[in-house]
Amino acid sequence: MSDIKDLYLNEIESKPLKYYKGVGEKRAQLFEKLGVDSSDALLRYYPREYEDWSDCITVEQAKANAESGEVCCIRATVSSQVRSVRLKGNRMLYSARAVDDEGKGFRVTFFNNSYIPKMLVEGSQYIFRGKLFVGTNGAEMTSPMFDSPENAGMIPIYRATEGLPSRQISKVVAQVLAELPEDLSDPIPEAVRAKYKLCHIRYALHQIHFPDDVETLATARDRLVFEELLILQLGLLRLKGRRRGTAGMRISRDCTDEFRSMLPFELTGAQNRAISEAIGDMSADGQPMSRLLQGDVGSGKTAVAAAICHTAAKNGLQSALMAPTEILAEQHFRSFAQLLEPCGIRVGLLTGSMTAAQKRKVRELAALGQTDVLIGTHALLSDGVEFASLGLVITDEQHRFGVNQRGALAAKGDNPHVLVMSATPIPRTLALIIYGDLDISVLDEMPKGRVPIETYFVDGGKRERAYRFVRKHVDEGRQGYVICPLVEEGENSGEMKAAMEYARNLSEGYLKGCRVGLLHGRMKGAEKDSVMQAFASGELDVLVSTTVVEVGVNVPNAVIMIIENAERFGLSQLHQLRGRVGRGSVQSYCILISDAKNDAAVSRLRLMSHTNDGFAIANEDLKQRGPGDFFGSRQHGLPEMKIADMMTDMQIFTLAQEAAKDILAQDPDLQTRENDGLRGEVSRLFDPERAMN
Ligand code: ADP
Ligand code: MG
Repeated sequence: MSDIKDLYLNEIESKPLKYYKGVGEKRAQLFEKLGVDSSDALLRYYPREYEDWSDCITVEQAKANAESGEVCCIRATVSSQVRSVRLKGNRMLYSARAVDDEGKGFRVTFFNNSYIPKMLVEGSQYIFRGKLFVGTNGAEMTSPMFDSPENAGMIPIYRATEGLPSRQISKVVAQVLAELPEDLSDPIPEAVRAKYKLCHIRYALHQIHFPDDVETLATARDRLVFEELLILQLGLLRLKGRRRGTAGMRISRDCTDEFRSMLPFELTGAQNRAISEAIGDMSADGQPMSRLLQGDVGSGKTAVAAAICHTAAKNGLQSALMAPTEILAEQHFRSFAQLLEPCGIRVGLLTGSMTAAQKRKVRELAALGQTDVLIGTHALLSDGVEFASLGLVITDEQHRFGVNQRGALAAKGDNPHVLVMSATPIPRTLALIIYGDLDISVLDEMPKGRVPIETYFVDGGKRERAYRFVRKHVDEGRQGYVICPLVEEGENSGEMKAAMEYARNLSEGYLKGCRVGLLHGRMKGAEKDSVMQAFASGELDVLVSTTVVEVGVNVPNAVIMIIENAERFGLSQLHQLRGRVGRGSVQSYCILISDAKNDAAVSRLRLMSHTNDGFAIANEDLKQRGPGDFFGSRQHGLPEMKIADMMTDMQIFTLAQEAAKDILAQDPDLQTRENDGLRGEVSRLFDPERAMN
């Protein structure tokens, strides 16, 4: 064993950028604006795209392609002196002839650049990059860029900012690369690199910034994507503690028949399938269930969860169900109690807004094993909450819980079974990334008798008509929602006042005579609950609400929704909101009101009025906003990816996931010397504060 220490990139002392040639304080600040604060970060500031100067074509080829107006590169020798002509308005025109390798000539022209005669030397060869056009005087390139053939490669283009153009950035990158130690160690162990044919980190960094050609760039990129996804997977797998052994508790009896017989409706085929997949997991030997239940809004995920809790309880296992909001927790509590209590199953509720005495009582019952299913918000995570025999953990998360929180609930049991319910249909790639190695059940079938929601997109001029339409439904004994677009958390009270005023105006104006209630995020849990209750029981006709109703609220008699300033919402959010109606067998309507004029907003709202397919909407949303925005990486506790593309790097992702599993199987805590580098990168990615020192 040698005791020479390995040298990893993240251990090299990072140098502030102001010390590099051509940088200084001012430029360093511009770099910071781009999120680059050190030499280290600069190496990971990958080019956004490249200009390919390595792929030269001939003049003939360029002529043939001239119509297309595409930029091309031609290697050619300057065959004349540069001539200069003074044009009208005191402009200078410089021009020269150049001939390519086949002896075919063209003219290059430049305006007002007095350096040209010095820079273009007769008899020397250059690569000219520009658009070739064929005029009356033959082929010509106007104001091409040019460089010596030795520099012909792929030119990196960085995301730049005013005062700091891409060319400047690349000059500093070149300096940092030149300083990289010869003996730089690779965080990916050699065996892994060999198995997956990955190039060395040193080569990858050089080639990603200054690729020789398209192939070396691909080699470098594949490696860096692999590394990024490998580290992400290692971090996620470790966070989830999926290396644990066998399930603490298994079930031996499938009691779904009893559950089915208690239900007021028949389960869909997809629901039955999901239930039996879950029960299969929970009765199998070995690892506990770790499953994602995905289904569009209204597909009936709650009934699946209830069925599983029912069978768990009948087998002596306690269950915990965590919901992202109090409204939702309370709603789940009511429907679970209604479904399960007749079977002798005890259901409890724990939310932050309950009194201390109420909470104490609930905790006591759970700890004594006298509650079978405990439903709550993240209040379930607090220290005082204990279970006698927690065997099943369900999160109804709608992307609101981070991986850490999910794990924290599971830690209250002895390797409990885990089911994660997600209402935003996400492409499989992303599901795999976010949920790691969860198994997936999909509810791809809507309950029978659902009538698709009709969605209309109108401008403010039709507002009155829209509200008249609401009234018509209220007169027929139906209910409706009006959504006003206010940010929920961290809301200032001014906006809250606006919501109250808004509701008042409606009840005195368009909706005069209707019973109008108001729901907003600033209300206390009990307040919210009583408004929601009143709406659910039909004491209110119209509920004016901010986006708090977005998550899972279920009132089947509500058949119409108006969304004001609809352009302010993302596609997936609109789909979630809209999913609050259309939950019964009556025709439901959603009216999007917006005066937005810009094309993007209009086309988003149009899409909403054309499709009810959550998958199509999610895909479009993802395309428009990118994965980071789509989920809000923060909410997931997921780090931002610098190079991997969640949509297109699926193949590499699968390999990286396999490698991550292999590595952790051998070395669960990344303690061996060969995994030193990976351990460092994982903690840097997932715990940047701590990895600083
Ligand atoms: P989501 O998947 O959006 O959470 P829910 O579980 O809230 O959907 O279910 C939506 C509505 O559909 C509820 O009123 C529920 O009672 C009802 N429902 C669920 N499954 C069925 C079914 N198989 N047949 C009819 N109605 C159902
Ligand atoms: Mg739901």
